[in-house]
Amino acid sequence: MKALRRFTVRAHLPERLAALGALTANLRWSWHPQTQDLFESVDPDLWRRCSNDPVRLLGEVPPARLDALAEDGDFLARLDAAAADLEHYLTRPRWFQEQQERGTTLPAGIAYFSMEFGVTEVLPNYSGGLGILAGDHLKAASDLGLPLIGVGLLYRSGYFRQSLSADGWQMEHYPSYDPQGLPLRLLTEADGTAALVQVAVPGGRTLDARIWIAQVGRVPLLLLDSDIPSNDEELCGVTDRLYGGDQDHRIKQEILAGVGGVRAVRAYTRIHGLPDPDVFHMNEGHAGFLGAERIRELVTGAGLDFDEALAAVRAGTVFTTHTPVPAGIDRFPIDLVRHYFSGTNGENESALLPGLTVDRILALGRESNPNVFNMAHLGLRLGQRCNGVSKLHGEVSRGMFEGLWPGFDAAEVPIGSVTNGVHAPTWAAREWIALANRLAGPDRVEEARGWELLQTIDRKELWSTRNALRAQLVAEVRRRLRESWLERGATEAELGWIESVFDPNVLTVGFARRVPTYKRLTLMLRDPERLRALLLDDERPVQLVVAGKSHPADDAGKALIQQVVRFADEYDVRHRIVFLPNYDMSMARYLYWGCDVWLNNPLRPLEACGTSGMKSALNGGLNLSIRDGWWDEMFDGENGWAIPTADGVDDTRRDDLEAAALYELLERSVLPRFYDRDSDGVPARWIEMVRHTLEDLGPKVLASRMVRDYAVDYYIPAAAAASKVTADDYAGARALADYRHRIEAAWPGVRVAQVDSTPIPDVPQIGLPLGLTAHVQLGDLTPEDVEVQAVVGRVGSDDTIGDPVTVPMQHIGTDPLGEEFTATVPLPLAGAVGYTVRVLPRHGLLASPAELGMVALP
Ligand SMILES: *Cc1c(COP(=O)(O)O)cnc(C)c1O
Repeated sequence: MKALRRFTVRAHLPERLAALGALTANLRWSWHPQTQDLFESVDPDLWRRCSNDPVRLLGEVPPARLDALAEDGDFLARLDAAAADLEHYLTRPRWFQEQQERGTTLPAGIAYFSMEFGVTEVLPNYSGGLGILAGDHLKAASDLGLPLIGVGLLYRSGYFRQSLSADGWQMEHYPSYDPQGLPLRLLTEADGTAALVQVAVPGGRTLDARIWIAQVGRVPLLLLDSDIPSNDEELCGVTDRLYGGDQDHRIKQEILAGVGGVRAVRAYTRIHGLPDPDVFHMNEGHAGFLGAERIRELVTGAGLDFDEALAAVRAGTVFTTHTPVPAGIDRFPIDLVRHYFSGTNGENESALLPGLTVDRILALGRESNPNVFNMAHLGLRLGQRCNGVSKLHGEVSRGMFEGLWPGFDAAEVPIGSVTNGVHAPTWAAREWIALANRLAGPDRVEEARGWELLQTIDRKELWSTRNALRAQLVAEVRRRLRESWLERGATEAELGWIESVFDPNVLTVGFARRVPTYKRLTLMLRDPERLRALLLDDERPVQLVVAGKSHPADDAGKALIQQVVRFADEYDVRHRIVFLPNYDMSMARYLYWGCDVWLNNPLRPLEACGTSGMKSALNGGLNLSIRDGWWDEMFDGENGWAIPTADGVDDTRRDDLEAAALYELLERSVLPRFYDRDSDGVPARWIEMVRHTLEDLGPKVLASRMVRDYAVDYYIPAAAAASKVTADDYAGARALADYRHRIEAAWPGVRVAQVDSTPIPDVPQIGLPLGLTAHVQLGDLTPEDVEVQAVVGRVGSDDTIGDPVTVPMQHIGTDPLGEEFTATVPLPLAGAVGYTVRVLPRHGLLASPAELGMVALP
């Protein structure tokens, strides 16, 4: 019999245990081992059966047990200590507050939008790297004391749970989660009713959503949920699944996340009496409609016109792009966007965003194909500050989006980079956290610093820690493999062999990630016999653990999984290679802790950053990876291995070459190092690499480093820019919009008429002062409206200037040829050098001279 409706009833805690409720309600427990231990001691068996989920634990623990605990002095002392520790964590001044004391003007609030958030496995609201990154961002922001609010959707079924059929085909399951049973509280008005967000949808209907709050340390995460009675069935289903459904479904989700998300932030700050955020950060373009909603707010609330409002919104908006693959960009048919944003009766005023014309909204996402609305272009047009997620990805993005800044070289495209990071307290094994606490003190570790001190640990202790973590992984592999085989239809009686799967002393390689083609799950199988030989070597074997989900609509990805599963099922190798279904945070943790080597072989440069290798490195795992994403900038020759990439070779041959290089590295370098032992049984050269990895990569891969980079290079400047454009009733926004109009109107008349240089000697020497004079026609503009620059640099055979040095030129007068500008530039380098002169817009409220995408060259 199936239940008609399900709901979760929370247990009533004895008064003396009230703090347990508070500890459960704040997800900080998910990265705080002492609090987890406390939950475990409530009922160790039940804790395991509840998959370490404290909300379930408190729902299922017998009342008699709670009564006993309320009398248990030891438990109460630990409970009070944990509660005091949480209070301390939530109230003590942190890095951000220290900046405040130094007098830096800081953001009043940062709203951080993402389509997915992976905070903990008990809130399964993520599919992969993007969501986990967003979760780590919130946690690090909390650790650092940033006034950040996360915004996203709550999916009734999350992404999906993966299992395997008997023949190794991915099966998807969509469990339905009851928000009451999740670590969430409802945002309510003063009278106790649920705060509601409403968004107009075509047909004169409204899409309603309630707002759940997941408390992530200091940071609230607002999750919109459309599954409420005031919506019809179709609209209830808007937040059913993450990345499920067609384009129509998806645009509704993105409208709710963006437009509804801003409204949820407003409700939250109003109810809690908090300042409105001045910075809005889009983690990928999915929530880009938030910018259109904020333009609407300013048009209807502050009396600005569209362009003035756009200038104001841009100042406080940060956009992070995450994909280097054009096919990975979120794009909609323009007619679909028109359908959702247009007015009733085909009027040009938007019904969803009254006060805005549909054409202006559509223009924000235009791209070269006029039938397409491009969410990345939307993000780039709305964000005055934009970035990619590793140095290489920043560079690739500048090239990929160059077309939005015509006339500029890719290097000058205003897209920077902040390399992703990972939250150490979440991803490092508690063994490392304990060691770091011992060396650095808990307060530094709390902000996830002090990692570099781990390298001072004695080599035997390093090695025994690595061994202990590998042994834990082996036990977990067996447990999960058994579960998987039972689900695939095996009986317990057939599964005795699983007890000898994996060996705690064998070099363990991990490969786990989503399964899009570019990640090349099956590269390791390129030469199955060579892999088999590696696995079965008598003296120096390898064992390999593989995991990953394929998007439900991607049969090609599922076929790759099946290929791995079929190989791993083979009799002779099944004790040395396993595919574990349902890769999620609860499994990933064991892999990062226990794998000696973390393998990553994407098609360069398609991996924007990659973060799983960082999590492995935090635990002393060594990366064996193509130099893509983060590894391109952080591999130093000693902290792991770089698989040579055959970039530019056609794909089949490329796979052959790169797979051969991978086997070769394993055979010649990785295995000998791991199995070469000294008289203490320690692999000395291996442990040197582990030590170096902890010391060198530890501090660089931290999410606290990432969030500080965002704060210093993006949030603080964005808040300053926002404050400048909004002061004096938006005088700055009005001035900037007016300037932009004038520049756009006048630019066709701007011309570099003539450039003269001082005589160049026959043999010019480096450092020679080169005098340049330019005559420039400015049409209706004044010399103050522009910057005229001398540009000097190395020239190639086609006369393009590489690595240019730019020097602003001085206005010295007006003559019949135009406005006259001069500069003296010392020749910056030897070899073939060239120069030119260009005219750029100049305004105090622009963040970059390339910002408006306008430049005049001779
Ligand atoms: C870190 C992580 C990812 C992302 O890893 P990539 O290296 O970016 O592919 C995906 N899933 C889980 C569960 C993770 O922990």
